[in-house]
Amino acid sequence: MSSSYGGTTAFDRLRSRFDGQPHACDSCGFVDDDAVWRAATSGATVEYRRECPSCGTEHVRRYQL
Ligand SMILES: [Zn+2]
Repeated sequence: MSSSYGGTTAFDRLRSRFDGQPHACDSCGFVDDDAVWRAATSGATVEYRRECPSCGTEHVRRYQL
């Protein structure tokens, strides 16, 4: 096992699933072609949040690490 921390982390792998992907807002239907999500981790889970630029609805995706 390597202890170096330069490679792809679980964090990055999760993020690459949807960061930069089009995301449609449930509330107003606005489609953001290059959605940017903010990541926050609390140990066992990671949350990705973004705010719809059109209506301001906050979208949250939560994953287990
Ligand atoms: Zn919206």
